[in-house]
Amino acid sequence: MIEQQIKDAIRDIHDFPKPGIIFKDITPILKDPELCHNITEAFMEQVKEMKIDAIAGVESRGFLFGLTLATRLGIPFIPVRKAGKLPYTVNQKIYELEYGTATIEIHTDAFNPGDRILIHDDLLATGGTVTATSELIKDMGGEVAGFSFVVGLSFLNGREKIEPINDNIIILAD
Ligand code: 5GP
Repeated sequence: MIEQQIKDAIRDIHDFPKPGIIFKDITPILKDPELCHNITEAFMEQVKEMKIDAIAGVESRGFLFGLTLATRLGIPFIPVRKAGKLPYTVNQKIYELEYGTATIEIHTDAFNPGDRILIHDDLLATGGTVTATSELIKDMGGEVAGFSFVVGLSFLNGREKIEPINDNIIILAD
């Protein structure tokens, strides 16, 4: 039900951001407040048994439902950002991309050591971004409680990559 609603709303954008790539555009979801509500409720239903102290959302579309969920749960939201965007002191992780590297950062005071953190993003592709996020969180003394995504691209096998980190994986539309 929710899975079909999400799939119906998402549109494919050919050759974005580069030729040959079919980008899953989630912005039509944001135009539909009832669907946003249903997505939030579906996440709430699935996280309610998980013990979570904070939600880390990956820039930038991970901020959308990540903050909504954290607010609903009454727990802090941690922005995970690309290099140079966060104003306070940061910890960072450099990770491999298909071509080159990328860097993500988290504020040094974003959470407390031992906190159980749910990592959230809009979409799971190869799993590289959330793997790097989990490594950074662990470096900073946090515990990864699980992962949540609105959409998964199952043909890229991201689930297999992140399962060894924590198999509490929520994907609303896979
Ligand atoms: P991964 O690291 O899993 O390969 O890529 C996932 C990251 O790239 C997420 O932050 C996600 O927002 C972004 N991303 C990659 N491909 C797409 C896509 O087709 N649609 C959207 N909305 N995001 C994508």
